[in-house]
Amino acid sequence: MKLSAQLSAVFSFFIAASVVPGDVPPLASGEWRFHGGTYTDQRYSRLAHINADTINRLKLDWFAEYPSDGGQQATPLIVNGIIYVATAWNVVYAYAAGSGEELWRFDPQVPRAVLIKACCGPVSRGVAYADGKIFAATLDGRLIALGATSGKKLWETLTVPQGGRYTITGAPRVADGKVFIGNGGAEFGARGYVSAYDIDTGALAWRFYTVPGDPSKPFENPILKEAVKTWHGEWWKYGGGGTVWDSMSYDPELNLLYIGVGNSTPYNPAIRTAGMGDNWFVSSIVALDASTGRYVWHYQTTPGDSWDYTATQNMVLADLEIRGELRRVIMQAPKNGFFYVLDRATGELLSADNFSKVTWARGIDLETGRPVLTEEARWWLKDEGSALFPAPGGAHNWQPMAFHPEAGYAYIPVNVYPGTFRAVQEYTFEAVGRTTGLAASSPPLSDPEVRAAAGANLRGQLLAWDPIRQQAAWRIQQRFSGNGGILATGGGLLFQGDTQGMFNAYDALRGEPLWQFDAQSAIVAPPVTYMADGEQYVAVLSGKGGSLARIAGGIISPKVTNISRLLVFKLGGKAVLPDHAPAMIQLPDWTAVEVDAGRAKKGAGLYAHYCMSCHGISTQGNGITPDLRYSPLSGTAAAFKAVVMDGVMAATGMASFSAVLSADETEDIRHYVVQQNQSAQKAGENFRPGR
Ligand code: CA
Repeated sequence: MKLSAQLSAVFSFFIAASVVPGDVPPLASGEWRFHGGTYTDQRYSRLAHINADTINRLKLDWFAEYPSDGGQQATPLIVNGIIYVATAWNVVYAYAAGSGEELWRFDPQVPRAVLIKACCGPVSRGVAYADGKIFAATLDGRLIALGATSGKKLWETLTVPQGGRYTITGAPRVADGKVFIGNGGAEFGARGYVSAYDIDTGALAWRFYTVPGDPSKPFENPILKEAVKTWHGEWWKYGGGGTVWDSMSYDPELNLLYIGVGNSTPYNPAIRTAGMGDNWFVSSIVALDASTGRYVWHYQTTPGDSWDYTATQNMVLADLEIRGELRRVIMQAPKNGFFYVLDRATGELLSADNFSKVTWARGIDLETGRPVLTEEARWWLKDEGSALFPAPGGAHNWQPMAFHPEAGYAYIPVNVYPGTFRAVQEYTFEAVGRTTGLAASSPPLSDPEVRAAAGANLRGQLLAWDPIRQQAAWRIQQRFSGNGGILATGGGLLFQGDTQGMFNAYDALRGEPLWQFDAQSAIVAPPVTYMADGEQYVAVLSGKGGSLARIAGGIISPKVTNISRLLVFKLGGKAVLPDHAPAMIQLPDWTAVEVDAGRAKKGAGLYAHYCMSCHGISTQGNGITPDLRYSPLSGTAAAFKAVVMDGVMAATGMASFSAVLSADETEDIRHYVVQQNQSAQKAGENFRPGR
């Protein structure tokens, strides 16, 4: 290394160290060692070789292909010259970061039938690294340690109850000689918790439950004695929710682990908690002593959450001058549409304002720290429910925001669409599938006008937010929502992929678009940047997937399919993607099949409740899972029943629904699917890309 380079590396070290004292290691090393880059979770790298002047030379350098059997959401890690990638079904790959040579892969062999309790597909948001080990969590709830250079399994432990309602999609985190892992499944009746394991042995160090269990039994953590006072009714019979399914941050100076806690379940508070109470710690940021798991403070972004307004979105640590005082802050833009700045030592609310359209609350009362609810927010009191901003998908979902310490802006992938909140007629705690108590509907999307209107409702934005002034610096309107996580760089750039298959770079100060790459598939995963062999690289996973893509992919990106790849770019790269022409499949002609309109109507409701979240709203398909209108298995009652009731395709992830559906109801759904096939025939929509 040249002396000037060494000096600049040292200089960068001190600059980076001054951004958050104690944060290790700085990205001046050119690595991406932690999920959010460093412990700050800023998703900011000081690397500046790629900048506004050089970006026109940024080209694909190498890529890796994966089975396109699930969405790709992972943040790659780069440690000691190796790039680690978690893909769908938790298969982990390791490559030489510069050349792309595959070093090893590890397949944990996740049983496909577990998919039935995963809200958003077999996705993984990444692995963790510490002390020569890679830590990977699996959809079926295991935590596995692998040798970072060998890829060999060192230990494995089950972190969830066998046969429970849990799944894991989030990335493990590491600190203080421990690996931390949460879980998901609130929509399926889970009770949230976070576990800490010894990185060397895999022994459980501590476990923190985010909601109280059955109060007739001993409380697992002392703070639950306080938390239980905020719950009423018989919540523990439904799990209560509060799953920590994605975000955690860590402050090494304070030794605090921050966990982002998810929504309640069931959503309807009349069922969950006798209509009363704040329901600690749903939709909260909770600070725990990383060594012991002891509760230190919490801030509840949505008290008594009844809207799926998770506080699981990524939490960024920075030191900001607020009202003339340098404060150690933690920032979050949770689903509920408000941007929060808290003191991360105490949890004191410093400021909050809405970064997107919000109709469930008038604002946050800074005295009490509580939202001021609007009249229409209480949807469960209205027969017709309420249409509210944001939708359950949130103004900001899991796609991480970034923070650029020099620009001083947070960059948020914003979703701008309303959701209809309406209670089901009669609530049952389902044995299989979602059990939120929220009524799902099947709008007539075969009508082109209805579909166009639905698409027009699903807008997105890339937002640069000034967290000190609590106002937008700039905002780019995007035609559709659900776009990818953000990377900010010292080259003054932002990188973000989108639902339409493009990978984009923008000027970080002004939001001017600078560069675009046709990735051939939707990108929802967040990009990273790193140094290898003396050059700066940018890497991102492509692969359509996730909750919104599964439900609405047929509306927002009907022509985009899931092509799963790791795409790696550098200045002057020479790789080219193969020509992409998806195989088209033809709609089976069922115009002559008799449809019972009454059965189809009943089937539409059942489809919305049980099938929509995987197969797409109103049978519109999504480019990820089979479009049932196109599936020959929908053609006969016997074949359809064999799949839905008898589980003959469980090995692909389509497990049996016989616990919740009768044979009659299954046939009702089929009548609806055939009816929608006929509508598509009539509209001349006879072909679609395979899958
Ligand atoms: Ca949720």
